[in-house]
Amino acid sequence: VFCEVTVTPLEARPLHGAIISIEDRSRDEETEQMRRDFVANVSHELRTPLTALMGFIETLRGPARNDPAARDRFLDIMEREAGRMNRLVADLLSLSRVEQDERRRPAQRIELAAILRGEVATLAPAAAAAGVELKLLGADDNVMIPGDADQLVQVIRNLIENAVKYGAAGGIVTVMLRRLPHEPVLRGPAWSITVADRGEGIEPQHLPRLTERFYRVDTHRSREKGGTGLGLAIVKHIVSRHRGRLRIESERGEGSRFTIILPETIGRT
Ligand code: ADP
Repeated sequence: VFCEVTVTPLEARPLHGAIISIEDRSRDEETEQMRRDFVANVSHELRTPLTALMGFIETLRGPARNDPAARDRFLDIMEREAGRMNRLVADLLSLSRVEQDERRRPAQRIELAAILRGEVATLAPAAAAAGVELKLLGADDNVMIPGDADQLVQVIRNLIENAVKYGAAGGIVTVMLRRLPHEPVLRGPAWSITVADRGEGIEPQHLPRLTERFYRVDTHRSREKGGTGLGLAIVKHIVSRHRGRLRIESERGEGSRFTIILPETIGRT
């Protein structure tokens, strides 16, 4: 705990009395440190592709100038690096928008099952190309809940894309929608969406940190797969805005299950 005590003399003359204000500054310090870490992380994440781009521009101007095969190869790499910067900036914007929205509860009612059906249909071809079959269970009937459709699409897409990226070895990813008549923590009826893969799983010590910005189990692997390290941080904020919960279960060698639980109605709190 960092505590600062300020003694302010009431007058400039010899001290008759003083105001002693005691303020707990440990929270401010923590927030400030998090902000500094975040800025450092963003700079580092942007600099990596930028350095690669600058290196290739130089090579294209010099040694590769008259080598069409090398030029094409370098342009492919440059396109990939520019794409990575683009995704990072898009995710940063998403994160800041979601954080701003967090206090305002979603006002509309949306149909959750249709969103799931749409997302599974959209992502199935890319999953199949990666050797993964996407299966949807329990989403045949209408499910109306209060929510922000665009944000829930983002949540579902992030979880499915992660399951395909990191769980491809299992060959199958299931998405399951279920009603919970009485969810004990939310103290009422709720809906759960579980995205389960049979991939490599995650060691238990990483689980509590997965939703931190830029936290990755394997940075190289995440980068290689086009990850920004911000997906689950965005998911956490969106779920929190919906007054819901996020549960992550995983077993090394068995696979992972990411479950979000959304209240069927959102009260005044
Ligand atoms: P990224 O852009 O790196 O995928 P995320 O915030 O979406 O970032 O996820 C953070 C990290 O959590 C990933 O880098 C990966 O290590 C781990 N992770 C997420 N989903 C899974 C999964 N289904 N199986 C194994 N690891 C996962």
